[in-house]
Amino acid sequence: MVDIEKLIRPHIKILNPYSSARDEFSGKEGIFLDANENPLGSTAQKPYNRYPDPYQVSLKKAISKLKEVDANQIFLGNGSDEAIDLLIRIFCNPRKDNVLVMPPTFEMYEVAAVINENPLIKVHLTKDYQIDLEMVLKSITSSTKIIFICSPNNPTGNSMDNDKIEKILSQFNGIIVIDEAYIDFSDNASWLPAIQKYPNLVILQTFSKAWGMAGLRLGMAFSSSRIIELLNKVKSPYNINVATQKLAISGLKRKEQKDYMVQKILAERKILARFLKQLSIVEEVYPSDANFLLVKFKDAQNVYKYLLQNNVIVRNRSNIFLCEGSLRITVGTESENKSLISCLKKYIDR
Ligand SMILES: *Cc1c(COP(=O)(O)O)cnc(C)c1O
Repeated sequence: MVDIEKLIRPHIKILNPYSSARDEFSGKEGIFLDANENPLGSTAQKPYNRYPDPYQVSLKKAISKLKEVDANQIFLGNGSDEAIDLLIRIFCNPRKDNVLVMPPTFEMYEVAAVINENPLIKVHLTKDYQIDLEMVLKSITSSTKIIFICSPNNPTGNSMDNDKIEKILSQFNGIIVIDEAYIDFSDNASWLPAIQKYPNLVILQTFSKAWGMAGLRLGMAFSSSRIIELLNKVKSPYNINVATQKLAISGLKRKEQKDYMVQKILAERKILARFLKQLSIVEEVYPSDANFLLVKFKDAQNVYKYLLQNNVIVRNRSNIFLCEGSLRITVGTESENKSLISCLKKYIDR
């Protein structure tokens, strides 16, 4: 049985969190002389002179309805990056507790662990980009506090096998984070309902991809109310600004538009994948459950440079172990994809 209390760093458990003015009074009406704000207004175009709601109650209510999860099981961060960082700081004692990652994967897990001086255990994915379950279970030590699973995975694009995730959930007594940044583009179901069964499971989702709000910086973490409570305790008081909270609430009302954009991107991904597969310079287009394609080229470095010279910017992953020779290509608009395609044709004919 997982005991969350035993996993928490002791000083975090007894931490007396900063109490903001808006913690002590959260009513909407009143004469607010408590937070040293400017009462006259703001030089910004909109009146941003008041501090935001520290717990984003209205926004969480909207997310709670959409995701069918209690508001006390939702944490909102300044991007998913904030939740990744805070989870490491809550559970991992520097220079002592380790974090298990499965490269090639999203590099923020490693960066956040390194910043906090936590040793990393790296268990590479198998050649077909799946979890190496046996190796993962063998590599866990008594000091392993967090396992990060990215599914669909960045940069490989595929989803991790459900039965392997299930085995990790049933056998690991630390924190398991499943990063579902690309879940809207996948046919697979989210692991979100499993937070009711596993108090040590954290699901990360984001407004940056399918919802198209990368510029607003808003990430979601779903978990047991205890872990959400801890995240709230250690976050900076006003981590989600007023504009982001407002714009996200109005954006959530346009779920049909999100769904429409996802369908459009999936249709474009299919066209792009089919085209790329025919090219003589392409060795492999990997299956994708995300809004990008990992593509192995015969001469990735030169293709990358040529695209760059022609103002088409893709992500060069060709120097990463297990992604040798591969570029990660985000699915763009129809016309952007056409430009990419004609540029690749030009490369072949040059
Ligand atoms: C893009 C991405 C995110 C989103 O990060 P934000 O900080 O929310 O923008 C999270 N995880 C992965 C794997 C990603 O690729």
